[in-house]
Amino acid sequence: MEKTKCLSCGEPVSGRIDKKFCSDYCRSTYNNRLNSQSNKIVRNINNKLKKNYRILKSINTDQKTKTTREKLIEKGFDFKYITNLYTTKNGRVYYFVYDQGYLPLEDDFYALVKRDK
Ligand SMILES: [Zn+2]
Repeated sequence: MEKTKCLSCGEPVSGRIDKKFCSDYCRSTYNNRLNSQSNKIVRNINNKLKKNYRILKSINTDQKTKTTREKLIEKGFDFKYITNLYTTKNGRVYYFVYDQGYLPLEDDFYALVKRDK
């Protein structure tokens, strides 16, 4: 019968069959590593969202304005990162990054809006 190997250091684990780590030290090392990886992912995405937010805010200085896809991309806007969608009664979809939103229009134009409240 093959012995279970520690998920952290790869050494054989003795004791209970469902044990995954050879020691508490290995367990916490493993978990810390996992946590720091997922923290990194969260941090990277948060940074993308913050950047998108800053860009929208810098263009949309009042309540609403119009811009182009080119201008957004030039400033580094990343269309993959939004926080929520808002669909109007007539089926138009606004993409929001926090309270700053955009609506794709024709010919690569975008309407920028700020949600009040
Ligand atoms: Zn170990």
